[in-house]
Amino acid sequence: MNCELCGKKIGKPSTVSIEGSTLQVCKDCSRHGKEVFDSGSSKTTRDELLKRLEKKKEAYSNTRHMDSGEKVLALDYSDRIQEGRINLSQTQEDLAKDVNEKKSVIAKLEKGDLRPSDELIKKLESALNIELMEEYQEITTSTSKSGKALTLGDLIKEAK
Ligand SMILES: [Zn+2]
Repeated sequence: MNCELCGKKIGKPSTVSIEGSTLQVCKDCSRHGKEVFDSGSSKTTRDELLKRLEKKKEAYSNTRHMDSGEKVLALDYSDRIQEGRINLSQTQEDLAKDVNEKKSVIAKLEKGDLRPSDELIKKLESALNIELMEEYQEITTSTSKSGKALTLGDLIKEAK
């Protein structure tokens, strides 16, 4: 078979995940992507596990007690970024350059698929002259079960 990236003939392909799609590639190209781990019978990849772990962490942090007045990322951050950018008549590409990120990162931010890091929040706020943080408001009344942070190991145990 041939490498799906460069087209080179390969004997034993590596399965890697590149920009969200799974490809059969040669050794050279596999360096561009993340190797997909085959976890036996389950088709769950390590990436998927990590994503699910990330979601659990988010849910957990929503129930965490926070001091009133503490600032958190606004729930409508994606709209704020998009509006701010459009107000400045910038394309996603322009904004990407301003904050030293890839255009795909901006697209994900505006779709709400990606939460910006603290550092990126600051860059976006100053590039667009907007506020992305707002005072924390208690959304849920549920109490956290344990103070322990979830690990990938916990998740694998649950997935079985
Ligand atoms: Zn290749």
